[in-house]
Amino acid sequence: MTTGFKRNAAQSPARHPLSENQTENKNMEQSSIEASKNGKQWCLNDFEIGKPLGRGKFGKVYLAREKKSKYIVALKVLTKSQLLKAGVEHQLRREIEIQCHLRNRNILRMYGYFYDNKRIYLILEYSTGGELYRKLTSKGRFNEKNSAKYICDMAQALSYCHAKHIIHRDIKPENLLIGSRGEIKIADFGWSVHAPTSRRNTLCGTLDYLPPEMVEGREHDEMVDVWSLGVLMYEFLVGSPPFEAEGHSATYRRISRVDLKFPKGLSEDSKDLIRKLLQKDPRKRLSLDSVPNHPWVLRNLRS
Ligand code: ATP
Ligand code: MG
Repeated sequence: MTTGFKRNAAQSPARHPLSENQTENKNMEQSSIEASKNGKQWCLNDFEIGKPLGRGKFGKVYLAREKKSKYIVALKVLTKSQLLKAGVEHQLRREIEIQCHLRNRNILRMYGYFYDNKRIYLILEYSTGGELYRKLTSKGRFNEKNSAKYICDMAQALSYCHAKHIIHRDIKPENLLIGSRGEIKIADFGWSVHAPTSRRNTLCGTLDYLPPEMVEGREHDEMVDVWSLGVLMYEFLVGSPPFEAEGHSATYRRISRVDLKFPKGLSEDSKDLIRKLLQKDPRKRLSLDSVPNHPWVLRNLRS
């Protein structure tokens, strides 16, 4: 089984029946892959493996098709020995537990998982548009209309998580994918936790997106995701995160002081929303449910 997988995935992806064409999935019910499972355990033999989609820290992600339903998915293949070496089994278990239970159009679905002696396989919704980070890098920045759609969708998806007492804690362009209709998809729940969390916490994620309470090692709650949404909105419109600096300690100081500067040309209502999200005091941050009704969002979604 393992040899077949390797041959298909690594040696002859071009000749494999799987292609980029996604029309099949569009005509299919979202639940078809679940219907196909019908209570039984998944195994590698249930899938045809296609081209590699990307590489992560602990393994690779492949395009794959469930044989019975012909449903296209992304199969994330993690190597057990690498997971054990890094001591992240607990984190992975949490990621699986959380992501399998979330159902929201802006959150990447995890349909299930299975494992063999050497590997763990995560069955994920395939995001046809690829990484948001790559799109942002190639465009430099996004226009107001696209940014507003992304930010509004992110606010609603995060609010859905928070209602289920789940904090993402690692919102940044690298962890966002683009779906077939151009919609944003939150992926990578590796750092997420069930709230309420943490007495004191170890730093996780990239420093640029961390809120003051986390860089200062204080207690934090779901309002950390609101801060990250503000950083994200700034990066979408400006092309770089707001507190960027040479080295960790300089970034740390800028975050801690909320040393927020805007380049010329940003609209007043966009700056107003960014300021309301990037409040040092977590209690003073705008609630996620108010984001879709902010004038900047309303103005840009209307036009
Ligand atoms: P890292 O922590 O280094 O980002 P990771 O282990 O979290 O790695 P992922 O980011 O999940 O791995 O996956 C690696 C790459 O594979 C992604 O950057 C993306 O390009 C691609 N990829 C992952 N999941 C999907 C998916 N569902 N659909 C399409 N492409 C995907
Ligand atoms: Mg990742």
